[in-house]
Amino acid sequence: MFIESKEVDQGSLVNSDICIIGAGAAGISMAREFVGTSYEVTVLESGGLTPDQKTQSLYTGTNIGLPSFNLETNRLRAFGGTTALWAGHCRPLDSIDFKVRDWMPHSGWPITRADLDPYYERTQPIVELGPYNYEDLGFYLEKTGLKVLSLMPSRLKSVVYNQSPPTRFATTYQEELRRAKNIDVYLHANVLELESNPSSTEVVSARVGCIDGPTFSVSAHVYILATGGMENARLLLLSDSVNPKGLGNEMGLVGRYFMDHLLLRPGADISLTRPDIDLRLYHALHSVQGGKMFSVLASTEKLMQAEKLANFRMHLYRHGPRFTQSLASVFKRIDQNGQVDTNASQSVALHLVLEPIPNPDSRIQLTNNIDILGQRKISVDWKITDSDIKSAHRAFELAGLEFGRLALGRAFGEILNTPDKWPSIMEAGKHHSGTTRMSDQPSTGVVDRNCKVHDIANLYVAGSSVFPTIGYANPTLTIIALALRLADHLKGALR
Ligand SMILES: Cc1cc2nc3c(=O)[nH]c(=O)nc-3n(C[C@H](O)[C@H](O)[C@H](O)COP(=O)(O)OP(=O)(O)OC[C@H]3O[C@@H](n4cnc5c(N)ncnc54)[C@H](O)[C@@H]3O)c2cc1C
Repeated sequence: MFIESKEVDQGSLVNSDICIIGAGAAGISMAREFVGTSYEVTVLESGGLTPDQKTQSLYTGTNIGLPSFNLETNRLRAFGGTTALWAGHCRPLDSIDFKVRDWMPHSGWPITRADLDPYYERTQPIVELGPYNYEDLGFYLEKTGLKVLSLMPSRLKSVVYNQSPPTRFATTYQEELRRAKNIDVYLHANVLELESNPSSTEVVSARVGCIDGPTFSVSAHVYILATGGMENARLLLLSDSVNPKGLGNEMGLVGRYFMDHLLLRPGADISLTRPDIDLRLYHALHSVQGGKMFSVLASTEKLMQAEKLANFRMHLYRHGPRFTQSLASVFKRIDQNGQVDTNASQSVALHLVLEPIPNPDSRIQLTNNIDILGQRKISVDWKITDSDIKSAHRAFELAGLEFGRLALGRAFGEILNTPDKWPSIMEAGKHHSGTTRMSDQPSTGVVDRNCKVHDIANLYVAGSSVFPTIGYANPTLTIIALALRLADHLKGALR
């Protein structure tokens, strides 16, 4: 059932078994897991069924880090969350992403890829994908008859990506939640603070505020924070009535290790010497067994280990003829009248998506600026390191070397010419992560392996804020897989 919070009585108390805060990919996936169970579930969602400007303004803040980052346009505050904006690229994290990598500080999850595999498999239909098969590219080559580049395994490999339609959670799952008798979704319900007992070991209520409307509270056995990679940290820091440090922030880790994928698109162009080469596997979508797939180039484990690099992927996008006069002359593609021979000139744009190195100084903090609900806004200080620049540069160099070795083309681009500088074209991946990182030890993380906030009995976090590292894969498949795993854990714990 959907409830309009503006119609709730001022000062009232709603009782529930499970309180989910935020109805985006994580919150809706969690709620659906409880449909038809004996648990009463309350979902508190800040927005309405469609976006509105006043609610979206609650996401404004200050950027004091890398200039390409935008707090407001990188996420959406409405029912369905940022799935109204997402592009639908899907892939699980690689096994190595979960491991401690001795060349990457602060790496290592307390769980493995194998722990998440069953949940990844269950996530596939939720975002309308085909079979759960990301490891066997040969299967797709056989089904499509497409060709793969013969890359040197010590350098790069081709990997499978899946493409969601993309699933818009606000429309796809609205009716199911509306009909569910044990799920109440409160719209325009902004959680202002999680109120705890005097020792800050248990949450006793969620205080809710409505723009131009009442305030009320929700009391539940467990609370799940699912408000996105930046807002999860903000809400813990804002929950400071009992402990001025905020909730789960004894070690000062909430908001630290903020990460996003580093995007360079295009970071380089490959001018093809063999324009007839079949690259459709990489630059087009292919239907296989009810799903859509494409392939990207990615770093190999061998390469990462040997050269102490972060994980990365590269998209190949085929251009039409676009040689400049100078490049055409380099490749002797000037016809007898001195004109660029555009028929012969074909190029491929290389887009890099790079895993950033976890960095405690890259962080989200509360400021003294106030939003329309009187809540402190955040500042984001997204930082990168020299190691990130090294990995990005090497990624393009290796792609260039491979195209050269295969006699397919040559690479050109700003990053190849200025290896010591970060190019002006850098963008953020819009995959906000790391601010409530997962670790078995409270000294190195905010949540434990079950996504429970350390030392708080009934508070859990869902979303990419729990990722200690983010690999190169887009996060939503992992966000949902972790939400399903958390739902299973809660079903066991609440029995
Ligand atoms: C342009 C764009 C393209 C993207 N493309 C991809 C892609 O191709 N593949 C991929 O995997 N990911 C992609 N993403 C990222 C993807 O959208 C997110 O990973 C995903 O939506 C995160 O899910 P979430 O539930 O954690 O957060 P969200 O979906 O952002 O949901 C958070 C919810 O919490 C609510 N909320 C916030 N604060 C409060 C509060 N105080 N009280 C109550 N409710 C609150 C919000 O209104 C929102 O509904 C893209 C993102 C963008 C912006």
